[in-house]
Amino acid sequence: MSFSSEVKEELSHLKAGDLHCVIAELAAIISLSGGLARSGQGDYRLRLHTENAAAARRFYTLIRTAFDIQPKVSAQRHNYLKKTRSFQISLDRSGDALMVLKATGLINNLGEIDEVHSRVHDPLLQRTCCRRAYLRGAFLASGSVTDPEKNYHFEIVCSQAESADQIRELFAFFGLDARIVLRKKYHVVYMKEGTTISDAMNVLGAHISLMKFENIRIVKDVRNSVNRRVNCEAANINKTVSAARKQIEDIEYIKKTIGLDKLSGGLRDIAGARLEDPEASLKELGEMLSPAVGKSGVNHRLRKLSQIAQHIRESGHA
Ligand SMILES: [Zn+2]
Repeated sequence: MSFSSEVKEELSHLKAGDLHCVIAELAAIISLSGGLARSGQGDYRLRLHTENAAAARRFYTLIRTAFDIQPKVSAQRHNYLKKTRSFQISLDRSGDALMVLKATGLINNLGEIDEVHSRVHDPLLQRTCCRRAYLRGAFLASGSVTDPEKNYHFEIVCSQAESADQIRELFAFFGLDARIVLRKKYHVVYMKEGTTISDAMNVLGAHISLMKFENIRIVKDVRNSVNRRVNCEAANINKTVSAARKQIEDIEYIKKTIGLDKLSGGLRDIAGARLEDPEASLKELGEMLSPAVGKSGVNHRLRKLSQIAQHIRESGHA
């Protein structure tokens, strides 16, 4: 099961809560599931069509909890091989559909369905608990979150710009910074920060998934910082090794051209020490000399040797 499905599964099993919250959550599911409310010849019908079993289950449970109506449920298998299924939850009796549409504010006083379910009426979302419930419904209806092992991405897809704005505002109320991007004809509210996504799951009430998400995130962060350190150390070692290789090259060149005897005592000693131990650090090289020389002294002499080699290369003599 994908991480997204796990989160939805968890959300679909949460206690429905108080009636005000149930209504808010239903309003989100109905308004975001698209093409849900319809009126034909004065009759109202409400249909939720989804491929997500958890969303279907939640919708069914909430309707039953709040209205004591028994929705009709049907499942269809689309592609036998891919095992894709879709669920349809419907309220076919006009009175039932009307009751739900009125309660969720998706129909006006004249009985007209707002075809563009842009924003859910603000009075439904006055309480903090209802705002959480609304966001939960929105996520169940059209949200997804990427497996944190891969990367951090949380999104809720809306067909209307106004719904996307409302969702972003509600997340902002909880201190979470979501953004909106236009993808084809959809307005996608998204978050890409691990900490923000983690907080968003807390707002939705997906506490078990949140713990799993956090565990993976911590392990990943530790692994990344260890990797960074290892890479950094490896880079330092490489740097040291290639510096030593260059020093040896210079010393061998001096030896071949003018001979090490021509060097002053201090330089000759350090050249000898380096040839003797190509892998020694500057500190170790200094300790090989008598009297011992400090790291900066060694560095100074090696640089001098390099200058001499360079001078011979350019002028052909010392
Ligand atoms: Zn509430």
